[in-house]
Amino acid sequence: MIVANLRAAEFAQDGAACSLYCSRPTGAGSLRRASTAITPHAAELAIAQHLVPLPLEVRSLQQCVGRILRQDVYAERDNPPFDRVCMDGIAIDSHGGPRRSFLIEASQAAGAPPVTLSTSAHAIEVMTGAILPRGTDCVIPLEEYELQQGTVTLKAEAGITAFRNVQRRGSDSQPGVPMLRTGTRLGAPEIAVVASAGLAQVSVSAQPAMRVISTGDELIDPGQPIADYQVRRSNAYAIVAALRDRGFTEIADDHIPDNENALLNRLARHLGEASVLILSGGVSKGRFDLVPQALKELKVREVFHQVAQRPGMPMWFGVGSRQQTVFGLPGNPVSTLMCLIRYVVPALRTMMGETLNDPERVALAESFALARKATSFVPVLLRHDERGASTAVPKSASGSGDFLSLAGTSGFIELPPRPEPFPAGFAARFYRW
Ligand code: AMP
Ligand code: MG
Repeated sequence: MIVANLRAAEFAQDGAACSLYCSRPTGAGSLRRASTAITPHAAELAIAQHLVPLPLEVRSLQQCVGRILRQDVYAERDNPPFDRVCMDGIAIDSHGGPRRSFLIEASQAAGAPPVTLSTSAHAIEVMTGAILPRGTDCVIPLEEYELQQGTVTLKAEAGITAFRNVQRRGSDSQPGVPMLRTGTRLGAPEIAVVASAGLAQVSVSAQPAMRVISTGDELIDPGQPIADYQVRRSNAYAIVAALRDRGFTEIADDHIPDNENALLNRLARHLGEASVLILSGGVSKGRFDLVPQALKELKVREVFHQVAQRPGMPMWFGVGSRQQTVFGLPGNPVSTLMCLIRYVVPALRTMMGETLNDPERVALAESFALARKATSFVPVLLRHDERGASTAVPKSASGSGDFLSLAGTSGFIELPPRPEPFPAGFAARFYRW
């Protein structure tokens, strides 16, 4: 029982109570209350408790960018595996006395086996990335000496100390030490680490098979003729864009009319083929908001319906009979996108086994008045000043359907319910588009 484990205060946060998942009997002191909205925090916990981890797959390193690692990666050997020259120059023996002039006797290139210095009166020319020649322990960079007819003369500033400009063997990592942990997202630096560990392939999460489904008779695709009373179908494009932006690839898109049979047939097919359904529209209380009922008939169990938030109040979430994850996002384009970023994206990342950090926080650039009983999501533009500080400038939208105002914003902030204004500098959770 999910929500029953939460403290009552979490539900009381915005005067909302949980309508679901309470095994306790209803009545005084119980959390159960029919058809009331749960808090965003309770909603994210309820979602998290119903997610099924995606299976693993082994992929070659070239195909792993953006994937979530599902194994630990250990150092193959000492890193660096030898005492490594860090500058182009000469290598000498720092114990050779006060000498400032050396005859170059050999050179040591990167990738070549080590040469040996025959006497401390001599030096070996060295390249960055080479193994430190045997008998030497100090690298003097090019800029600190003059070279004439095979003899080097050190300038006054050239210091001779042991292991100067040498990266010691094993100083970065040693064999058996984990370099990357399961749950790490593989970006360019992490891919380099996997390659350095000698692995040509690793275990990563499979991509979830997703269906992005718009509902609504009024929706017309871009490129098609449209009447005054019709609406462009923009949500599916926005959802797919946000998902592709985050590296998700297994996405198919459908558009279902507000018709019970069509919904039942098409949703049944999608439930059979996909592990995640992201619907938009049809989850409010209107006569043609048929999605919750259709899902119920298809044995998708409702986990919650309605979250105490603006925009996005009508949000619906449930779990199918094969543990498919089903999100019913409200159709208003601002609500759709905000609910997607706030709930669906973290859920997908959790299903892939990613270790999630707390959401970023950003300070309000100016005081902001918003007396609401529910949590508010407010679009913001991030402003960066010359001292390196970033602040969020709220951009007020005239309504949850005013998606034109979102273009050009950086993301949105989450403001808790409270009657008094938020002061400049208030640190709010920040969600990037
Ligand atoms: P609904 O949640 O179905 O009641 O839709 C709420 C509002 O969002 C209505 O004005 C719809 O026309 C609009 N809407 C629903 N789905 C989409 C969509 N895919 N693209 C753009 N607007 C939509
Ligand atoms: Mg609709």
